[in-house]
Amino acid sequence: MNYYSLNKQAPNTSFKNAVIKGLAPDKGLYFPEHIEPLPKAFFNSIDSLSYSEIAFEAIKQFVSPDIPNHILKTIVDETLSFDFPIVKLNNHISTLELFHGPTMAFKDVGARFMARCLGYFNKNNNNKVTVLVATSGDTGGAVANGFLGVEGVNVVILYPSGKVSDIQEKQLTTLGQNITALEVNGTFDDCQAMVKTAFLDKSLTDNMQLTSANSINVARWLPQLFYFMFAYKQLHDKHKDIVFSVPSGNFGNICAGMMAQQLGLPIRHFIASNNANNVVTRYLTTQIYTPKPSVQTISNAMDVGAPSNFIRIQEIYKNRFDVLKNNLFSYSFSDDDTKEAMLEIYKKFNYVADPHGAVGYLGCQAYLKENTNAHCVFLETAHPTKFLDVVETVIKEKQALPEQIQQVIGKEKQAVSIATYDDLKRFLHT
Ligand SMILES: *Cc1c(COP(=O)(O)O)cnc(C)c1O
Repeated sequence: MNYYSLNKQAPNTSFKNAVIKGLAPDKGLYFPEHIEPLPKAFFNSIDSLSYSEIAFEAIKQFVSPDIPNHILKTIVDETLSFDFPIVKLNNHISTLELFHGPTMAFKDVGARFMARCLGYFNKNNNNKVTVLVATSGDTGGAVANGFLGVEGVNVVILYPSGKVSDIQEKQLTTLGQNITALEVNGTFDDCQAMVKTAFLDKSLTDNMQLTSANSINVARWLPQLFYFMFAYKQLHDKHKDIVFSVPSGNFGNICAGMMAQQLGLPIRHFIASNNANNVVTRYLTTQIYTPKPSVQTISNAMDVGAPSNFIRIQEIYKNRFDVLKNNLFSYSFSDDDTKEAMLEIYKKFNYVADPHGAVGYLGCQAYLKENTNAHCVFLETAHPTKFLDVVETVIKEKQALPEQIQQVIGKEKQAVSIATYDDLKRFLHT
């Protein structure tokens, strides 16, 4: 598969090159030249396929011929070494738990897949690749964990000081080896802006091979389409009209879901569930797209004022507002709404949701008020104990810490403080 730049000012390129470059030279995001729907037989026989088999079939066209099938099979197997269970709350709402990976965030899948692709491409290369990534919380940990020990790859993670949870901070600052954390005196948008500037800075890119592991990178973004297929496998014999409510920040996850739909997966609608950062909710009502500085919320991984993947969604629907609007619903919720929802989910269903999942749950409820007969699946994008303070304050129950979290909690934070782009540059040069 070749990829083109959504800015249309750069040559088309291979999967390999798109992964290594991250962003096209014209600053555009890469997008596959063509999407070949999977045969009907694939969906009809999905019950007999394992998660690895489903994932392999779904991703194959996007990576071939750069990664041979037998290697891709191994990459997929290693990436998906944990479960993706559906938990049914009632006849209209389920949650898809995406937090069973090593850092207990859905981003583990994309990070693990990308790390293995880059490791394969860089195997016989003497030039180190530096992965530069901005995180609003979970990306950092997932990328750090996914890339830990991958030869020929250094990882530099920028995170906003004081704006990620304690556990998230531990996950991204305690690994050492080829992973460095930079604590930025600023917001997530500041971190993201610095990373973007670095990619365009010739004085850096002439001297080092920089790439991104944010969802702008196709190898981070595309594997997220697996989740929607895994949910379908678990639900399709009981429920026909499946709708996904995706707690959204940079819109990579939901956009990957739309790719699954392009591959033929029967999905009735998508719901982009937002916190107070509601650029897309407003766009769908006003048809005016106005990115804004992000505001801080308790669902901090979605505190994004300018969602980087929205342009890919526009591309999928060829910029036709009506077509998009027929497929995508969007609602926005306050922190108070979110806390109330966490309590309601706990009281009604005896289920502990994290703040992001709770926003997804609220999206389901809002949708089901307008649309009947659907089965709405909200994605539980992180384990509730990653947001321990909020969760315990709201539901007033002590939470037991899972193994993955216990492991990092006693480790010592190691981070380099920076404030400006010049600080970042100085760090990368040394
Ligand atoms: C990253 C993240 C999101 C947002 O995902 P996008 O793909 O950026 O829309 C939602 N919830 C959690 C817990 C996350 O870490």
